[in-house]
Amino acid sequence: MSEQNPFFEEWATPFGLPPFDRIKPEHFPPAFDRFMAEELAEIAAITGDPAAATFANTIEALERSGRGLERTGDVFSNLRSSATNPELDAIARDYAPKLAAHRSTIALDPVLFARIDAVYRQRDALDLAPDQQRLLERHHLQLVRAGALLGPAEKTRMAEITTRMATLHTHFGQNVQHDEDEWRLVLDEADLEGLPQFAHDAAAEAARERGLDGKYVITLSRSSVEPFLTFSARRDLRETAYRAWTARGEHHGGHDNAPLIAELLQLRQAQARLLGYETYAAYRLDDTMAKTPEAAEHLLEQVWSPAKHKAAAERAELEAAAHADGLNEPIAPWDWRYYAEKVRARKYDFDEAAVKPYFVLDNMVAAMFDAAGRLFGVSFAPRADLPVYHPDVKAYEVRGEGGKTVGLFLHDNFARTGKRSGAWMSSYRDQENLDGPVLPIVVNNNNFSKGDPTLLSFDDAKTLFHEFGHGLHGLLSQVRYKSQSGTAVRRDFVEFPSQIFEHWAQAPETLRKYARHYQTGEPIPEALIEKLLAARNFNQGFATVEYAACAMIDLELHARKSDAPVDIAAFERDFLARVGMPKEIGLRHRPTHFQHLFDGAGYAAGYYAYLWAEVLDADGFAAFTEVGDVFDPATAARLKAIYSAGDTRDPMELYRAFRGREPAIEPLLEQRGLDAA
Ligand SMILES: [Zn+2]
Repeated sequence: MSEQNPFFEEWATPFGLPPFDRIKPEHFPPAFDRFMAEELAEIAAITGDPAAATFANTIEALERSGRGLERTGDVFSNLRSSATNPELDAIARDYAPKLAAHRSTIALDPVLFARIDAVYRQRDALDLAPDQQRLLERHHLQLVRAGALLGPAEKTRMAEITTRMATLHTHFGQNVQHDEDEWRLVLDEADLEGLPQFAHDAAAEAARERGLDGKYVITLSRSSVEPFLTFSARRDLRETAYRAWTARGEHHGGHDNAPLIAELLQLRQAQARLLGYETYAAYRLDDTMAKTPEAAEHLLEQVWSPAKHKAAAERAELEAAAHADGLNEPIAPWDWRYYAEKVRARKYDFDEAAVKPYFVLDNMVAAMFDAAGRLFGVSFAPRADLPVYHPDVKAYEVRGEGGKTVGLFLHDNFARTGKRSGAWMSSYRDQENLDGPVLPIVVNNNNFSKGDPTLLSFDDAKTLFHEFGHGLHGLLSQVRYKSQSGTAVRRDFVEFPSQIFEHWAQAPETLRKYARHYQTGEPIPEALIEKLLAARNFNQGFATVEYAACAMIDLELHARKSDAPVDIAAFERDFLARVGMPKEIGLRHRPTHFQHLFDGAGYAAGYYAYLWAEVLDADGFAAFTEVGDVFDPATAARLKAIYSAGDTRDPMELYRAFRGREPAIEPLLEQRGLDAA
């Protein structure tokens, strides 16, 4: 058995793509075990080197270590997100704490740190290139932030904390997945009043997939439940769906996330204290562009009041529409999207259902490839011959200037059972050039409802471009060291390349060419483009409130100084009252299913990062509109430098080199229609 384990072989596949057809769940545990041992042996070789520590024998040696574990872990985490099954989930529960303990062992190795510290102290005398200087500083800082300067007892405690947190993160995500997989709203034709054709078709397809031919199914995937809340004329069913959607993760019993949140917050607080910070938020923000929780809060404060003000004006319009519709009570959270759509249709003289036939998924994919080509000189050739992990996945060879292959792009667009909700970019291999060129293998995941053809909303199209912006950050990377590759940048900078790329989904140049009716092939009428763009600020009070409240509750949860376990339901209630959350608007993510914060620590005390990066993307895109050409070659070349630089330079330095100055907030306020509010 073990001699057939694909993780113990070189992959002679095209591009070194994982041999998905041969990888079975049972291959992961022995691979994890062997490669953890192998990495420890590599670290022992570095720490046991009798020669004095140098950049080459310590930092570069570290960059070369752990390759087998990384390759195995990348395949595992990608499959677990995109195509999981009970076997992979069980392995994750077993190995998440083992892998966390393994990482702690390395991060807290005193001899390893002593060697890195020795190199770090001589850094100015070493004649290092700028990327090497930064690499050295980052390695040093990461170990300090992981606890390298702690005493032995504190180190033991730190390792216990990180190991336990890995288990809790895994359970949190699996609980949300459980609630999403469990729930479905099974409807008959007569229940579909108000649903446009695309939502009708998607519900029929979801039913077919579940063996319920002739019925209609609404799921808790955003791309299924949001259109239902927007169009269903059945207020009772909207309420049912909304309540199920917002209750994910808070059902009492074996899948309740509330106790997991309480324990995670205690552990994070303990971790921050050990490292000399008063709160976890202060600890996390210290290594970001924002630097302090106060800076992030200040940005949120600048949008919160204008957003609430705009939302109140929006609500008044919605209530007028609801009264006209015969609703004799205040609107509820499950009414907002429904009446917003009615008001938009009237005010801007178009509705979402009239727009959607023009947004065919395949055409919008061609549009994003075209935009990337015009901006950055890359092209995408389909490679249907390559083996992938699911029949829905499409592979593309990416070519740069001169037709040279620069990477591989996998596109996994449809919602299905066993796939995490949401949209994300990830990689199977990162670009680097330490011992010769290594090409990136990047994947974009979306959760669109499959149709024939698949039609997107305007928002879906923006999501498609957003993830592709992250994808380009991985694909255009031109760095020497893997630790600095592509998206390995500060958390509040990583959304800049993705969010700025959304602007090209909305460019009239893109819409005229690629937004074509799925039946007639006719381009979207010019008048409809104008209406679509005129309506861009519509409902932005709602969108800003539902987002900003999440960013604020995230910072508040992680700025708690109390050691007592949080009662998350009470905390949420108090928070909403204190900030004056409009009761008709729900949090975009309630704590019990807030995967950004608790499915891992990636965005813990960091959900503000989207708004932080939006200051940059709004200001950054203005660099194109100011010169009157959204494909201006000189501006695009300066932007490409950011996509290629990875983490080789400080993010603000990179931004200044692109824009010639630091960002201003005004374009963001204008972009959300908050400037006049
Ligand atoms: Zn993103």
